[in-house]
Parts: sequence; C-alpha cells; structure tokens
Amino acid sequence: MTNNSLLSHRKEEPENGILYLVGTPIGNLNDISPRALNILQNVSLVACEDTRQTRKIFHKFNISNNLISFNKENSFNKIPKLINDLKSGKSIAVVSDAGMPGICDPGENIVNKVKSEGIDVICIPGACAAITALVTSGMTSSKFIFEGFLPKRKIEREKILFEISKNEKTTVIYESPHRLKKLLNELLDYCGGNREIIVARELTKKHEEHVGNNIENVLKFFEEKEVIGEITLVIKGIDKKKNQAINKSDLKRDLIELTSAGLTLSAASRYLAKKYGIKKSIIYNLV
Ligand code: SAM
Repeated sequence: MTNNSLLSHRKEEPENGILYLVGTPIGNLNDISPRALNILQNVSLVACEDTRQTRKIFHKFNISNNLISFNKENSFNKIPKLINDLKSGKSIAVVSDAGMPGICDPGENIVNKVKSEGIDVICIPGACAAITALVTSGMTSSKFIFEGFLPKRKIEREKILFEISKNEKTTVIYESPHRLKKLLNELLDYCGGNREIIVARELTKKHEEHVGNNIENVLKFFEEKEVIGEITLVIKGIDKKKNQAINKSDLKRDLIELTSAGLTLSAASRYLAKKYGIKKSIIYNLV
C-alpha cells in the first residue's frame, strides 16, 4: 500500500525511501527547475539513461552525485537492486536523456514495480516534447491522442494510420528525422494533403522551427532538404460534420460530373481525393 499520509505531509526533499522521476530539458538546459536540481544533487543515487547526457546537466549546474546507467537494455536487471536500495532508506532519482522519464523513455517499468512494493513515487515535472509541440500548434490541446513512435510492423502501422485519418482529436507523434518524409507520405495517403499538420523541429533549441500548415505543404518544404534534429508532429483532428457534408453533396456531384465527362472512376477518385484532401477509398465508398 502506498503511504498517502506521507505524501500529504512532505516537507524536506529528497526524503529517504522515495523514488523521484525527474523531468529534464529537451534541448535548452535552462529548462530545469530548482526543485529538480535540488533532487539531483541530494538523492543517494541518480539512475540515468545515458551517463554522458546527465553529466552535461551536472556540469552546467555544478552537481556531483552518484550516477548509474539505467536504460532499455539493463533496466530489467537493475530494478530489484534499486528496490532493495529504496527499502533500505535510500532516495533515488530516475532521469532520461531528455524530457519526462516514462514518455517513450525508461521509467514506466520501475514505477510500476516500485509502487507494487508499497514504495512512494514522486514526479518532479519537466519539459516534454509532445506537450511543448501541442501547446504551440494552435490546435485543440485540452483533449488529444499521443501515439509516441508509430509501430514499424506494417499491419500495426497501417491500423494506427487509419485511426489517425479518422481521429477527431489532435494527434501527437514522435519521429526520427530520417524517417520523417516516409511518415509524411503515409499521412498524405491516409489523411489527404489538406489535413492540417505542424512539424515541430528542435523545440527549445537555437534552430527551433514549426513547419505547417498542411501535409502537402510540409512535404514540399522538406522535399529537397536533409531533415536533421528532433521532430514532433501534431496533426489536427477531423471535423466529422464537415467531412460528411463533403461526402454527401459536393463529392457525389463532382464524381458524376467527372465520370460523365469521360474520366474513369479510378481517375476521377484520384483527382477528387487530392482536391478534397481525403483518401481515395472514401470516394469509392460513396459509390
Ligand atoms: N521523454 C521525452 C519527452 O518527454 O518528450 C521523449 C523521448 S523520445 C526517446 C525522443 C523523441 O522525442 C524524439 O525522437 C522526438 O520525436 C521527440 N523530441 C525530443 N526532443 C525534442 C525536441 N527538442 N524537439 C522536437 N521533438 C523532440
């Protein structure tokens, strides 16, 4: 059982026997809170994804403390020892290379295991690329879907892409720079060129940029460029009512006009899919 009374009377940090999840910057090292720095300086031990990354923060803020590596490969083996340390009264901080631990980064597993042993977990919140990109996108941000990195397996990937094409809520995706163009082309196929999107690159850093405003334009922007830096995509949800209106009236009328003028159904659908920024199959379904 988690000791809730302990949580509500907390005074001095860090406390013995507590696991702290510490959010760190996603680029700009000044985006770290005094509370986070205090924890990193004063816990018994800092478990970090890559000691070289965390040392940069230590160096900038004159912190010296015990660092151990805690990443995707070794975290499973290290969790039992960390739990013993916590039970013996040590305080431990978990940090990832950037942003919030547990968001597409190590952290999730240890929280789950530690809590099941009745040990308290406290988060010292920090930057998160998904939230930073979302709130600057101008799209609906109070309700959204976070997909993280899309799966690589074709079937799972197509399922998610299809879901995104139908989502009414804003979707946030992480992607590596060298896979960005492939993903944008897939989004073009599933969502159409008119779908609003913002590609947020290098958030909080010197070369931060926000590229929009729809899939077609963003593809054109990156067409001739080598994509470098870190990328988060924000995709606007569909307006279902608007889409149905297009399907029922304008689309049917246009389709009849084009096929009467001699275009094959396939050619007319391809043309209209581009014009309305929707998938070709939506037009086929109309017929
Ligand atoms: N835990 C991190 C967080 O809270 O945002 C995410 C870690 S995940 C392994 C790394 C991915 O986050 C990158 O591939 C990129 O998609 C996104 N990301 C991280 N930093 C970013 C930045 N400065 N600008 C844009 N996207 C970023």
